[in-house]
Order: sequence, then structure tokens, then C-alpha cells
Amino acid sequence: MADVGNSQTRQHMLSPSAWNRYETCPRMYWLSRQKLPRKAGMAASLGTVVHASIEDLLLTDYSHIGNDQDNWLPREGERLLKERWEEEKEIFMNTPRRPMWKEEKWKEAKRHQKGGIIMLLDHIGIQGLDHDRITGALWRKVQKHAIAVEGELKTRNGRLMGRLDLLLADVDSDGNMVGWLVADLKTGRTPDRELKSEVNRQLRLYRDILLDNNEDHPPVRTEGWYTLNSSKWPAIGDNVLEQAYQAWEKTQPTAIPMQPTPGPHSCGGFCDWKAWCPHWWNWRFENGTLHKDDFSDAVVLLHEFDSNSGSAVIELCEPFEDGIRAIPTGVKKSARFDGRGKEALQEVLDSEHQGPLFLGSIMTTQNAWRIGHWCDVLPWKPIPDDIEYQKQ
Ligand code: SF4
Repeated sequence: MADVGNSQTRQHMLSPSAWNRYETCPRMYWLSRQKLPRKAGMAASLGTVVHASIEDLLLTDYSHIGNDQDNWLPREGERLLKERWEEEKEIFMNTPRRPMWKEEKWKEAKRHQKGGIIMLLDHIGIQGLDHDRITGALWRKVQKHAIAVEGELKTRNGRLMGRLDLLLADVDSDGNMVGWLVADLKTGRTPDRELKSEVNRQLRLYRDILLDNNEDHPPVRTEGWYTLNSSKWPAIGDNVLEQAYQAWEKTQPTAIPMQPTPGPHSCGGFCDWKAWCPHWWNWRFENGTLHKDDFSDAVVLLHEFDSNSGSAVIELCEPFEDGIRAIPTGVKKSARFDGRGKEALQEVLDSEHQGPLFLGSIMTTQNAWRIGHWCDVLPWKPIPDDIEYQKQ
């Protein structure tokens, strides 16, 4: 059995996603570790549901299904998917910082789960089989190839870790195990020509932790399995452990906020922590792009709000003192809060927050700016540079 790592006293541990975050912007990484309100998202929840249901299919004991019995797996897959869907929906709805739960994504979840099953069958050499025709014996064969399913993968010193989706046996035509395959299920967009460099590095890190933990390992390969179109993408390249340990050193917890690297690829991409970061809007203000996009972030004062209609008057602010203070500009905008955006505003008002608000991704294409279910509505609480911060 593969050794996926020893348990150790909790210390600073680096995962591939935290590593990527650090490389994108050290401040983003630092903020993500300050116990600030986590943001739920439909894409991430859909991924969790699909992952969990495939893992359930691999781990459940189906010995009561006869060797020749077919016409059961699609129904069983859907049952497990539904269970996980409801479980995830509850977690999502209990996360205060969340957009709208989209029931219509259920069909997508089914398609992704099916894509995962296609790839598992392909792994044992079966293509194009109608899933109604999967027998008990065939599924047990698939299950037998799974050496580990959804486990925490850690280095022996406890510094590097990752969530291993599937560790599968590669077998030859006589059924002898000739290697291990680390397969990472991906419900995101399929790559164009090759894996994105950060995904490639993530998979190689899993591979290299396994190699390091298991001296007598067989050949190990690693692939990203994209459930959307059942395509498998190999991650090939040098050992990344040394690089990962260097990143571990640099990412050790600090009370002083880490350096920000504002720019189009960091603040302009996805950063969930803008309400606590003074740098994105300073950067935008200085390069003249503040409030200029069709979907813009803003720090505002709320002057009027009708909780029935959701209509409001907001005043735009500009950064002062490196973005740590907000200066009202006198520019007032009509705005409309609706759906989850309106609820979130009501929650902030009920918390008796005084002062500016952070509004993320406001739709600015109409006269009345729209703050809908996709928007962040948060108290604006920038954390200053160079001052020790106490986690809440
Ligand atoms: S807003 Fe920009 S600078 Fe600030 S943490 Fe996010 S990515 Fe980094």
C-alpha cells in the first residue's frame, strides 16, 4: 500500500493551491490565512459534489450486485450525486458570503460525473460502453484498481500537502501492477493544448511527495482528468520538491501582512480579499481604471436605500493614504441591489457597520448600477501594511 504520509503535529503546511496563491500575490496568500469570511462559489461547490460522488462510487461496497447484473450504475451514481448535492447545498447556504445557489447546475453535475466514470472505465481498457451495461463484476474491477481515494498526501516532515483524488494501479495485459497513476479530477475548463503551468506543478508535487514517501515505488505518472469532455492530460517535468520547500520557507506565517503585487493578473483576476486589501484600488486609481470596467469593484458610501425595491444612492470613494482611507468624491450614482446582493447589504446594515462598503463586481453598464447575486457586499476594512495584525 502506498504511504501517503505520516500524521504530525500541526505546523505550517503548504498546499499547491496556497503555493499558487502566493505566486499570484503574497498578500492574497496572507489574507487567505487570516480567518476572514470565506467566499462560497457555485463552480467550487459543483466540483466538490462531483468529486465526492465519484469517490463514493469507488469506495462503496457493491458486493450485493451480481457479477452479471447491469442497469444499476447510472441510478446509483445519481443517488450518490443527489446526496452530495444536498449536503453541499446546505454548506453553501450556511456560508454568509455566498452568491446564489443554481439548481440548474444539477444537469452539469450529472454530465461531469458521467465524464469521470468514462475515464475510470477507460483506465481499465473499456471505451464506448453504455453505462446501463456496467455489471457488478465490471465495477468491482474498476474499484480494484483504486489504491487510494481522496486522501491527504503529506511529506514526512509535514511541510507539504495536497488532496489526492485518485491513486490508481496501472496494470499490464496480464493484470500485473506495473505502476501508479495519480489522477486529479478537474471539473473546470479543459486545457487548450497542455495543462496550465500551475496545474502541471500541482500534479508533479503530488507525484513527487508519493515518490519521496515510498522508497520502493513503481513508476509513477500523473494526469489531470477533465470530466467535462473526459480528457486526460499528463503532467510531465522535473521533480518540484526542492522548489516547493523553498516556497514553504517563504510562506511561513507572519503577523505583518506580506507584500502585495497588484496588477492585471492578480487584482484584475480573481481575488476574494479586496475588502481587506488597500492595494487593488490604489493601483486602479493610479492607472486610471477605477470604476471604468463593465463589472467594477468600488468602495462607496451608502446614502439612501429602499429595502423593498432595493434602489439606492451610493457615493463613490477614492483612495487616500495608500488606499487605507477612503475619500468621498461627491460622485453619486443610482444603484439597485437585488437578490442575494440585496440580502447581503441588509446583513451588513443589520450588523450596524458604519462607514464605507466594499462592492465587488458591480454591473456598471446601465444608469442605475446593479449589485446582484454575483456581487460581494462587505464592510470595507482594509488591513494596513507594516502593522502586526491579530487574526479575529
Ligand atoms: S487585491 Fe490585489 S494586491 Fe490585494 S491581495 Fe488581492 S491580488 Fe493582492
